[in-house]
Amino acid sequence: MPSKNQDKHEVLKTHFGYTLFRPGQESVIDALLAGRDVLAVMPTGAGKSLCYQLPALMMGGLTLVISPLISLMKDQVEALRDSGIPAAYLNSSLPPADYAETLLLAAGGQYRILYIAPERLQREDLLHITETVKISMIVIDEAHCVSHWGHDFRPGYLTIAAFIRQFPARPVIAAFTATATSSVKEDVALMLDLREPYMLTTGFNRENLYFEVQRPKDKRQDLLRCLENRRDKSGIIYCATRKGVEEICAILNQNGFAATRYHAGLDDRERQENQDDFIYDRKQVMVATNAFGMGIDKSNVSFVIHYNMPKNIESYYQEAGRAGRDGEKADCILLYSPQDVNLNKFFITRAQDEYREKTAALQDSSDFASGEFKDDYINHNLELLKHMTFYAVTTDCLRAYILKYFGEASPHYCGNCSNCTTVFESVDITLPAQKIISCVFRVEQRGRRFGKGMIVNILKGSKSEKLTGPGLETLSTYGIMADTDARRIRLILDQLIAQGYLAVSDGEYPVVCPSPRSGEIIFDKKPVAMMLPKETRKQQSAIFPETPFSDFDAGLLTKLKDLRRRLAKEAHVPAYIIFPDATLQDMCRKRPGSREEFLEVSGVGIVKMKKYGGEFTKLIRQHTGGI
Ligand code: ADP
Ligand code: MG
Ligand code: ZN
Repeated sequence: MPSKNQDKHEVLKTHFGYTLFRPGQESVIDALLAGRDVLAVMPTGAGKSLCYQLPALMMGGLTLVISPLISLMKDQVEALRDSGIPAAYLNSSLPPADYAETLLLAAGGQYRILYIAPERLQREDLLHITETVKISMIVIDEAHCVSHWGHDFRPGYLTIAAFIRQFPARPVIAAFTATATSSVKEDVALMLDLREPYMLTTGFNRENLYFEVQRPKDKRQDLLRCLENRRDKSGIIYCATRKGVEEICAILNQNGFAATRYHAGLDDRERQENQDDFIYDRKQVMVATNAFGMGIDKSNVSFVIHYNMPKNIESYYQEAGRAGRDGEKADCILLYSPQDVNLNKFFITRAQDEYREKTAALQDSSDFASGEFKDDYINHNLELLKHMTFYAVTTDCLRAYILKYFGEASPHYCGNCSNCTTVFESVDITLPAQKIISCVFRVEQRGRRFGKGMIVNILKGSKSEKLTGPGLETLSTYGIMADTDARRIRLILDQLIAQGYLAVSDGEYPVVCPSPRSGEIIFDKKPVAMMLPKETRKQQSAIFPETPFSDFDAGLLTKLKDLRRRLAKEAHVPAYIIFPDATLQDMCRKRPGSREEFLEVSGVGIVKMKKYGGEFTKLIRQHTGGI
């Protein structure tokens, strides 16, 4: 184990196998080693774990890591142990005998890092450890879970501050999260009772991610088309509901994709099995609700497709960010349909009931349950949903939109999102705008108001009962856009609302109504234009025709992967725990022939060199025809 006088750069190399810190890591580590609290906001894949694992090794004593998802602790602990770092975890998945043994070993000073579920903090047995072992640091991973305003509030997190207060000598506190707007950041610092924390927010930009929004006519067809181009790739498909997950997973399997599923309706065992199938690359596609993925470090996820729009940008960026952790090019695709907005509104109003149930059991929650809080909570979330919806419909750079949302300056053009690579043209929509707005007026004159779908149906001249029943076919605007594609009408209608020429009511069934500016179009005959994609748009798959590593020997990479698969199988761990893809790629580049050279590979530390150096270098020597 390293000692205080071992340099952090040495520890980085010997234990983690890296020569360089990533942006932000070093300053967080320095602050923690100097005994200062930290609140670090770094995007998914930025390398937050190392920010506390490395100082945990250098500080001596024991570091507790509070983490919300118990299914992942095993993985993290395995990865640490595989690098020769003594670590363990305590959560409800452990059989009582193992739990007791872990506690005993922890009390005996056998571990440097102990992962723990928030629910376990109130147990007395945990405090016994602290009688014999010094707790040097307490880490709160996914710290946004403590904030009511965060997108993933967990009541168990509310007990953390009280837990920390029990220590006569306060340990250093380090909080990490991937997504936090400034109000969430403040809330986290307050709720965790951080003392003058060192605050770090690293850039949110993930250059290797390509962002795309599609508004498909038929989502299923579109999804299958997306996957067809990615047959050999690993990816996640997020659906809004359990039912959606079931359906899509079945369709994919019928179409010859190796897909598995994950949602809260499955029992623990099946969830764990399916997650493992995906992580161990036995199944290539994971179809899941947002219950899946937090903290998962599967580095070779090469696409994340959202079959439904999530309820806010925080969730979207966190979920999409699970692609391309290895730094390889990866795609984040949102399949948007306007129904997603209504679905989310439904979730938001329902979620606040659940929220009240969750907090009712906890102290100090009376004000959360009050009517005022309820309204605040809903309005806040509806506001977040609006920002998400704008993302889905904007024609500006998608990356710029996200970065701006998180308060980061960015260029207006990234060249690596569907809006930057789509050729838009300004189209004159004056005439259809007049037709649509007069239709809304005619409906209004009859004392009626309808949702967007009905307005489109009237303009199209639909023969449905819903229209003929109330006699809407007698409206003068009935069928005046019969020749226009319904989707296009809808697109223009949305655009008129976005530009303020029409309004939409709030409430459970939003209806379209005239706005103060409607008159500019139908009375003043003001010309209007909107940006529409040119029909000849570039195929997105053509954007990254070559991989950045096309210069190296694909044959060798395949052999290395085979070896890794065998080693992983023998050790019963996922392949990436042995080495991530990035490390294998670096081997292809450097072709180490000896153990010393092997140590030069990014991701290889002393322990892994000793464990795996022999077999890998032998394979490389054979491949390159040396001795
Ligand atoms: P997150 O910030 O999402 O928690 P992780 O801590 O899981 O990210 O790290 C993501 C990946 O980055 C891991 O595979 C990890 O090994 C790798 N990584 C972390 N720090 C470095 C570094 N300094 N150099 C190279 N790779 C690193
Ligand atoms: Mg993490
Ligand atoms: Zn862009």
